[in-house]
Amino acid sequence: MAVNFAKAASAQSVHVLHGRDPYVPKERAEANLMVCWECPDGMFDLEKVRCLDKRCGCDLKRKTRWRTAACPRGHWDNRKNEMTTGTNGEKVNRL
Ligand code: SF4
Repeated sequence: MAVNFAKAASAQSVHVLHGRDPYVPKERAEANLMVCWECPDGMFDLEKVRCLDKRCGCDLKRKTRWRTAACPRGHWDNRKNEMTTGTNGEKVNRL
């Protein structure tokens, strides 16, 4: 499980190296964590705030903030945070 977390952290560092914001907006991170709290598959360890899925095992307080991270079962999707163009050409968060 530590290996999974290290892989996720490594993917995050690539964003940093390329000067991109490695974090999703706070609202999206909170929404991801809420999904975990009510995990449809019962994979949320309430005491440790970790995912019990063997493909993950991560600290969800941190992982839910990372732009490159994903739920191993597809229950949350950080791509929803990507910016899009509004009707007046302004950048709008699709969240
Ligand atoms: S990351 Fe996915 S599988 Fe793990 S606790 Fe959260 S919602 Fe459940």
